[in-house]
Amino acid sequence: MDGTTLGMFMRHLALDVEWGDLDFLVVDLPPGTGEAQKVLVSTLVITGALLVVTPQELAHLDARKAIAMFRRMNVPIIGAVENMSWVACASCGERIALFPAVAMERSIWNEVERLVSLPLIPALATVQSGAIADADADATFDRLAARVSPTP
Ligand SMILES: [Zn+2]
Repeated sequence: MDGTTLGMFMRHLALDVEWGDLDFLVVDLPPGTGEAQKVLVSTLVITGALLVVTPQELAHLDARKAIAMFRRMNVPIIGAVENMSWVACASCGERIALFPAVAMERSIWNEVERLVSLPLIPALATVQSGAIADADADATFDRLAARVSPTP
């Protein structure tokens, strides 16, 4: 989809779908500050933006552009999730970093709060029931949910 088509699709999604009574509407956007992001932000009242980055320079560069755009458009930034921070060794559980660390001055961590770091969990790729057979990951997702949802 080119930018214009994606923009039209986002407008359609935001305005023409009967969403009913929702607690949350989570829209997973591709990286960048393109038409999809601009249309969504200018069409809906956004409660907050949650960024997801992998520990890679390019991901942080994209996220910094997104942060600048959200700030320009007065969208509150909830924080950020670091995804694929490590993978646990199947034998001993040691955490193995998948990428070299991003230098602090080029990372987003001096601008937004890191809410949680998530490992790469190979088993997730094969999950079909929605259940995660990983107690640590389960607890981390619970912690993240508590951070991004208003208290009842
Ligand atoms: Zn090991």
